[in-house]
Amino acid sequence: MRGTSIKTAVLVVILGLSLALPLFLFDRATYADGVALDNPMFRIGIHYEANALATVRLNSSARVEFGLAGTDGTVIPLLADESGGWQIHREAVRLAAGPFGDHAAAAQVLSRWPARSGPAFILRESAGFLVSGGLFATVEQAVQHLPQLAAAGINGVTVRGMLTLVSGSLPSIEAAQAVRERLVSAGLEGRLHFDGAWRIAVGFATDITLIDSLRVALVAAAPELVWESLPGDFRRIHVISQDGRLLFVYANLAGLTLRAASGADFMSVEGRRHRGAFEFTLDQMNRFMVVGLMHVDDYLKGVVPREMPAGWPFEALKAQAVVARTYAYANRNRHAALGFDLCHLSTCCQAYGGVEWEHPNSNRAVDETKGVIALFNGRPASTFYHSDSGGHTENVEHVWTRAIPYLIGVPDPFGALAGSTHARWEQELTQAQMQQIARFNGADVGTVLAVTVESRFPSGRVSTLSITGTAGRMSLMRQQPRLPDGSTGLFALRSTMYTVTSRVAPVVVQSAHATASLPGLQGVQVATAAGVQTLGLAPEHAVRTASVTGTLRSIPSSFVFVGSGWGHGVGMSQWGARGMAELGHSYREILFHYYRGIWLADIPH
Ligand SMILES: [Zn+2]
Repeated sequence: MRGTSIKTAVLVVILGLSLALPLFLFDRATYADGVALDNPMFRIGIHYEANALATVRLNSSARVEFGLAGTDGTVIPLLADESGGWQIHREAVRLAAGPFGDHAAAAQVLSRWPARSGPAFILRESAGFLVSGGLFATVEQAVQHLPQLAAAGINGVTVRGMLTLVSGSLPSIEAAQAVRERLVSAGLEGRLHFDGAWRIAVGFATDITLIDSLRVALVAAAPELVWESLPGDFRRIHVISQDGRLLFVYANLAGLTLRAASGADFMSVEGRRHRGAFEFTLDQMNRFMVVGLMHVDDYLKGVVPREMPAGWPFEALKAQAVVARTYAYANRNRHAALGFDLCHLSTCCQAYGGVEWEHPNSNRAVDETKGVIALFNGRPASTFYHSDSGGHTENVEHVWTRAIPYLIGVPDPFGALAGSTHARWEQELTQAQMQQIARFNGADVGTVLAVTVESRFPSGRVSTLSITGTAGRMSLMRQQPRLPDGSTGLFALRSTMYTVTSRVAPVVVQSAHATASLPGLQGVQVATAAGVQTLGLAPEHAVRTASVTGTLRSIPSSFVFVGSGWGHGVGMSQWGARGMAELGHSYREILFHYYRGIWLADIPH
């Protein structure tokens, strides 16, 4: 009877598991307390703000489709091209030399174009190859550059203005191309122009009389079309192919951005390769911002090898991949004001290096953890990490202010076991440096007599460090001594897990029997008339010998910090992850060790 009930219980458990397992696998987290987890596409800021571009150089080994991406994510395809390279310029007043009979002759002139006269490119028109350059706001500004061009041997230069005639809307790009061909046979140069509809634009006129004479010629060549004059617009975008064809002009409609998507695995912007597609928008200074549109895993392939050496054990790389993926979801929209999710900087988001940084090991770590992120209470966890904990990780509230349940200090012998290069470090700071540190942190303590650890957290990290000098005393709290130059401290200690000792010039004392050397005088016991006393902290001590009264100086020349670990100590230790992986632990065990109580969820990917 008893045996039967056990068998039944086992059967129930097995049945329960077999039912629960598929449920668990398919019950993917899709939405977590305001954080959408069902969209694996991310917007990564590549060029923006100080790094925005005057022009963009784009390359792809395969066909590239240019289109417009609306705010709702739909794409209006415009045209495709296979020339391998493109330049994207904004409209401006420019200077043009030529036409030249062949590309080589134009390239020769292009090579002499003075950098001070703005970016230049080759433009192929029916009359031949032109070298067009400059980014001028007015005709007057452009003209001022003519002497410079003449000095570079570039003559016969004309000014190209921004006044244009544009046709009525045409039913398709093919219809627009047909009109352009008819104009060419009449000796007129037209270009494809998209402002929601396809049109043909003609002329780079500098004044209205030129526009009027152009209109006369156009009416003769294409009498059925209505031509409207269009003022210049610095925010119109011109896409030019490698071989100099002006593919089209995009009139930069509000809410729509120009986009390029390639059939190849990656495209290059300014010579750097990235997976996914790109969006090009003009900022307030009319400079190009470039945003990469990529699947989270394509982004992570450029992140993981920058955050952890790709030669490290595979399970450690997988743990790093999950940490980085979780960070991406937790910080989506971080740069919403600039129009993207995450930037490429380690000092702000995570270091992202693009395809150049990719490594087969880290790529595989990303692929094999596809869709896995760390959740706590249904939200992506704050997966802080650091290089080496030095033996014990830290409660987050001991580093910053707010406690987070899964970011608690845990014993961490694994970094040292992996042979961490930060397992022990030593840093010596001179008396002068220590005085400077005190001043930098707001107090002039005079000559520093002692640097003392006042209290430690249970992990062993120093919570309060005091600096005692001849003119005062001050305390440094928590991470203050660790932060690098230029932020809030000058120590730049690798971690706050350390001991500190003073170095003092030894004091030589002679007794009746021998000569001895004392390492400083603080704490030394001396026999006085009033009994045995311990010498306190002072820059010098009065001594009386049989013959004279003098002073012995006791000022530390330097302070030696001996410590372990590197970083704040919160969350995963990367060296610890390496050590755990080397001991055979899986990436899940690594993550559960450093983030206590998290859940590893499978989200749509
Ligand atoms: Zn950022």
